Amino acid sequence: MEERDVMEVDVLFAGGGVASLSGALHLANLIKKHNEQGGEGKKLDEIMIAILEKSAFIGSHSISGAVMDPVSLKELVPDFLEKGAPLEGEVTKEDVCFLTKKGQIKAPITPPPLDNHGFYVISLSKMTEWLGGLVEEAGIDIFPGFAGTEVLYDGNRVKGIRTGDKGIDSDGSKKSNFEPGIDLEAKVTVFGEGSRGSLTKTLIEKFKLDEGKNPQNYVVGVKEVWEVPEGRMNPGDVIHTMGYPLKNDTYGGGFIYGMKNNMVSLGLMTGLDYKDPCLDPHREFQKFKLHPYVSEILKDGKMVQYGAKTAPVGGYFSIPKCVLDGALIIGDSASLFISQKIKGIHVAMKSGMLAAETIFEALLKDDYSEARLESYQTNLYNSIIGKELYKVRNFHQAFHKGLWSGIIKGGLQFLLGGRILKNRLATTPDYTHLKEISDVYGSDSPTDEQIGVIKFDGDRTFDKETDIYYSGTTHEEKQPPHLKIADLNICYTSCKKKFQNPCVKFCPANVYEMEIKEGTGEQKMILNFSNCLHCKTCDVKCPFANITWVPPEGGGGPKFTML
Ligand code: SF4
Ligand code: SF4
Repeated sequence: MEERDVMEVDVLFAGGGVASLSGALHLANLIKKHNEQGGEGKKLDEIMIAILEKSAFIGSHSISGAVMDPVSLKELVPDFLEKGAPLEGEVTKEDVCFLTKKGQIKAPITPPPLDNHGFYVISLSKMTEWLGGLVEEAGIDIFPGFAGTEVLYDGNRVKGIRTGDKGIDSDGSKKSNFEPGIDLEAKVTVFGEGSRGSLTKTLIEKFKLDEGKNPQNYVVGVKEVWEVPEGRMNPGDVIHTMGYPLKNDTYGGGFIYGMKNNMVSLGLMTGLDYKDPCLDPHREFQKFKLHPYVSEILKDGKMVQYGAKTAPVGGYFSIPKCVLDGALIIGDSASLFISQKIKGIHVAMKSGMLAAETIFEALLKDDYSEARLESYQTNLYNSIIGKELYKVRNFHQAFHKGLWSGIIKGGLQFLLGGRILKNRLATTPDYTHLKEISDVYGSDSPTDEQIGVIKFDGDRTFDKETDIYYSGTTHEEKQPPHLKIADLNICYTSCKKKFQNPCVKFCPANVYEMEIKEGTGEQKMILNFSNCLHCKTCDVKCPFANITWVPPEGGGGPKFTML
């Protein structure tokens, strides 16, 4: 047994994204106010709040579109403008377009769910970094570069998190710089690890937190930031697109947002319940940039940053039970995302703040049982986000019969406050939606033309290797791969035959490569794990649920600064 240091804190947040940072800051503010007012009931002295973050610095794994509804930020930091919140521009102009292969049809009015007037275009990496600064000023300890790899229990009570060992070689042996992980123990542990959180996934499985719920469904967003000639787009300009390059049966759409300093943020979101095993979300995004409407915006510009991540779009019915003895789940990890509005940031922040309010009461009573923490889930459903989510509770499911059916049903659901599609429409996990290759293409070996393969020109379109360079992704090379394939034999047999190894296509970082030896035809799966963008698509979409994403050594991964 490895000797490990044990560190005790009062409240531990797993993951340093906006949900956790907002929760930690709100809690510190509540405690401060309580003590300043004389601490009626009980003074809360020296409450230690800590945040554990796997990335090298706060904000470097944070990526989103993003247009932020400021409602939660206003509540958390009322003077956010004076405090210099990094806002790219207030939204004053927005377009919604349906793209055909070469043309576009502009919506005559902006559909109400996509009306973003008064909201802000932001870079989530910058916003997270800024919020991290406020959190540190409030005396909260942030530990970047430490990945939580295991949940610690005392019976069925969550008692904290173990961080990953550092200095383990590729073969599992200890290197000279080996350092065992530490056990961080807390009265309450808050899981805010983002989309498809790896620790949250183990909690959901162990305690069946999703029993009676829909499974979580996801989109993967592939995104670049470009510098374009002056005047091409103004900060705060917003464009949303539907249609090309995605097929009618694939959920998703594009976005283009104007940022400061002639920067443009653009991306394509692809629903991971897609059916075509040859679909490659990165390639579809490259095709999006070649569309004349988009291409004109990027003309004479240059790409400056790249990234990808999944976002949960299952909505209201896929929110798991978020309360356990000694633990709460917040933000994307709890599937809190309004897919119709393409918004998760204010929802994540509010969920962190609601968790903080429950924890504050628990600290006063010195009771961290499930019964005491239960008010978090009730407050979540009764809050503005619970109500917003309820109104569009079947939005994503409405698209299962295709784009047009989804637009009509989803739109009506919004307008009627959810009075159509009232009852839960059931879904299945995204990986179950993939069709066999012969069912999609009528043969086992479709041509490049059928699949829609394009050549990357290195000017407007880039291969995955070039894009990864612009994500700043690095990992310690000498460590065991953090993508765990349960049964390689499935990859070489059933998956090859039915789906032709879709991980090779859907991974936006070329982590999975199937090497075929000349002459013998022998196959070998190569894992270029150091490319990994931590997007979690593979954990969601492998058709045999054969991949488990676990955190690599802390500090590894992308280094986003403006995504
Ligand atoms: Fe197929 Fe999954 Fe194996 Fe990739 S990891 S080849 S998707 S079974
Ligand atoms: Fe995303 Fe998985 Fe590829 Fe990493 S390996 S970039 S998590 S799909």
